[in-house]
Amino acid sequence: MLPGLTPDPEFILTNIEILNLTTVPKSLAIIGAGAVGVEFASIFHRFGSKVTLLEMLPRIVPVEDEEISKELDRAFRKAGIRVETGAKAENIRKTGNGVALTVTLAGGKKEELETDKLLVVVGRKPITDDIGLETTRVELDRGFIKVDQRQQTAEPGVYAIGDVVAGTPQLAHVATREGMIAVAHIAGKPEQPLNRNRIPSATYTEPGIGSVGMTEAQARAAGRKIKVGKFPFLANSKATIIGQHDGFVKVVADEQYGEILGVHIIGPQAFEMIAEAVAAMEAEATVETLMHTIHAHPNLYEAVGEAFNAVYGLAINA
Ligand SMILES: Cc1cc2nc3c(=O)[nH]c(=O)nc-3n(C[C@H](O)[C@H](O)[C@H](O)COP(=O)(O)OP(=O)(O)OC[C@H]3O[C@@H](n4cnc5c(N)ncnc54)[C@H](O)[C@@H]3O)c2cc1C
Repeated sequence: MLPGLTPDPEFILTNIEILNLTTVPKSLAIIGAGAVGVEFASIFHRFGSKVTLLEMLPRIVPVEDEEISKELDRAFRKAGIRVETGAKAENIRKTGNGVALTVTLAGGKKEELETDKLLVVVGRKPITDDIGLETTRVELDRGFIKVDQRQQTAEPGVYAIGDVVAGTPQLAHVATREGMIAVAHIAGKPEQPLNRNRIPSATYTEPGIGSVGMTEAQARAAGRKIKVGKFPFLANSKATIIGQHDGFVKVVADEQYGEILGVHIIGPQAFEMIAEAVAAMEAEATVETLMHTIHAHPNLYEAVGEAFNAVYGLAINA
């Protein structure tokens, strides 16, 4: 929660209270455009609420590739969701039948916003300060528990998994895998440490997002020489059949050896289609392998094959 605010069931909501609403609010303002914020924006927009999405950072879904943020922003605005990035919400107060807030917009202009409900989704933090960890050797990093590759803390015999762990994304499948690694280690069975670059994420917006590995900016910042392939759903026949042309598939690859560094999909069923890229990366397949992989027609995932071909300028339907 933002400092000074307390959630309540009626007006100032978190992801918990919003799921208990029994009617669709006429208007909904959302503070925070991470995965949870954009998902609720998408959901309530489709329910018929007038949605305003406020994000302090310069772009929505800031952990995604920059082009993904841009495309979702474009699609949201086109659909009628109001998106304000670089916007700061302050002076949040209940009015009796709604919530009022002062928003400083990107250009510096201040606006008084009134909304039926306010959803605050600015992030989740661990609750580790009152569970007796100080009597152990467990080490913390801003409240998150430090672990090694086998999920062991610095206290022998104490393991940590899931959102409470330092350095891994807060995702259900990460928690699951970490649990499996910890239990395998406890049982003396073989286990494979988590590879951070192969953790997919799925964002259930309209259009949806599925991504794995490095963004283009992360790969460049890591000093990698890269090639990028991109293919739009506009040129995919199944996207035409289902009438959903927003989005694209983007591949970030190592220039010299064709190592797949990251794949970023926004569009219909993006969260399902990312599976092919995750499996390819886990098997250490190269861009060439995926270029030669036959994709059945007519399918959305042909766009994935085309994006890999696009890395070398060889997409046939571009
Ligand atoms: C709105 C929302 C949508 C999400 N959508 C997705 C998604 O689509 N895909 C995805 O992969 N992830 C998603 N996540 C993230 C996912 O829910 C978490 O990564 C996952 O639940 C982490 O599991 P966990 O076991 O580490 O923690 P949790 O699921 O938070 O479980 C921790 C449990 O510990 C309990 N607890 C806390 N302190 C104590 C204590 N002192 N004693 C005893 N019990 C305690 C808590 O009450 C809680 O039940 C979403 C999260 C939110 C909030």
